[in-house]
Amino acid sequence: MQKGAAAKAAAKLMTDFKCMKCLRPLTYDEVALHRKMVNRGAREFMCITCLAEYFKVSEDALRERIDYFKKTGCTLFMM
Ligand SMILES: [Zn+2]
Repeated sequence: MQKGAAAKAAAKLMTDFKCMKCLRPLTYDEVALHRKMVNRGAREFMCITCLAEYFKVSEDALRERIDYFKKTGCTLFMM
């Protein structure tokens, strides 16, 4: 699992998943957000842009929510 400090410092951790709507590669945050807001057992996920559209909110609102979940220690966001 150790990928070195440089890789860990990368702003976004990418996953092997792609957005089910626009096929953009997804970050861990996006996968976790989808699990948290849509379905905990999901196997397909949406990127933050498509999630924002889905929930009719702004991407910024979703980013704030990610920060909030991280601050409150949600286990889905623990990497
Ligand atoms: Zn998308």
